[in-house]
Amino acid sequence: MVVMKRIISLALPCQLLWRNIQRQQSVPTRPCSLYTCTYKTRNRALHPLWERPDLVPGGDRQSPINIQWRDSVYDPCLKPLQICYDPTTCLHIWNNGYSFLVEFEDSSDKSVITGGPLEGNYRLKQFHFHWGAINDWGSEHTVDSKCYPAELHLVHWNAAKYGSFEDAALEENGLAVIGVFLKLGTHHKELQKLVDALPAIKHKDTLIEFGKFDPSCLMPSCPDFWTYSGSLTTPPLSESVTWIIKKKPIEVDHNQLEEFRMLLFTSAGEKEKKMVDNFRPLQPLMNRTVRSSFQHDYILHIQKRTKEQTQQVIPHRQYRAALKKEKRKKRRQELARLRDSGFAEKDEENSVAEDEELEEEKKLEAERQKLHEEWLLREQKAQEEFRLKKEKEEAAKRRQEEEEVQY
Ligand SMILES: [Zn+2]
Repeated sequence: MVVMKRIISLALPCQLLWRNIQRQQSVPTRPCSLYTCTYKTRNRALHPLWERPDLVPGGDRQSPINIQWRDSVYDPCLKPLQICYDPTTCLHIWNNGYSFLVEFEDSSDKSVITGGPLEGNYRLKQFHFHWGAINDWGSEHTVDSKCYPAELHLVHWNAAKYGSFEDAALEENGLAVIGVFLKLGTHHKELQKLVDALPAIKHKDTLIEFGKFDPSCLMPSCPDFWTYSGSLTTPPLSESVTWIIKKKPIEVDHNQLEEFRMLLFTSAGEKEKKMVDNFRPLQPLMNRTVRSSFQHDYILHIQKRTKEQTQQVIPHRQYRAALKKEKRKKRRQELARLRDSGFAEKDEENSVAEDEELEEEKKLEAERQKLHEEWLLREQKAQEEFRLKKEKEEAAKRRQEEEEVQY
């Protein structure tokens, strides 16, 4: 399966979006379907993906969202989702510096989905995951404010309407993404095939061939899903996505998630930065309805939730505190290990190093927090401007209609 490993170039998925990026002439370029690979990773606490100064949301249907089970509306017109993937269309797996992507041959309708909320066939382009630093968070979407340790996204494009994935990604009804939650549980045999390939793509921009894989093995058997209109969760954040979120999660074990966390955001030779917490914060639902393919017994769902399930999933806002706790625990364990292994005389030295590390960590966290807050403010401002613009447009339209009536 693993036949080659090569460094791939930085890519230019769309001239309009990334016109400031210089293309390297001597190496082949390839498009990145997550739009992240054009950024040079720097030693910043905030991922470079989110460092664009002009990064603003498109409008009022951004993703991810918190799915409120109680507020979702059963739509009996939703058809069952039909999934038909040809394992031979699987091409390769690569680290694009934000996640790892498994990409598919998409020049014909060999691997497609249809049904559900969709009109016609949507072709599979790639799938990837989002995950957290620890098992308490990581998913992009949440259900009743609870998050899962990871979320799988299978990205499809509307080939009947658009000529290429890149075009579809920017247009209305261009993409359909299936989201599957991963929860902590038993070992997932099929996922392990992917996990085994990860050490070979540890660094950003590394790629290996990965043939004959049918991603439907990563779907829960339960057909139930929620659907809503949303956006990409990575730049350019275009509002072109019909989201299909599977109700039931799949189970994976802790070691498999740990292997995800061994990947790096950084290229070979750079200071290593672990690939974790690669999810976008929740976005407001605004004026949208989440539809469900199933009649929901919300009360029953609450009652059926086990203690283990409620412990496993916690709200996003608690994750910072939990992360700090986890770091303190790791430091204590490391110190105890050093003492046990006879390095007690180095305690003083270690404690100085530890203090410096703590200081550095604090600085980075403060910087990350600041950048994140600035970004959130920009986002809120842009949303407010968008709302005002819409209101103005509507008022102008009303005035014009009134004037027309008068004349
Ligand atoms: Zn995603």
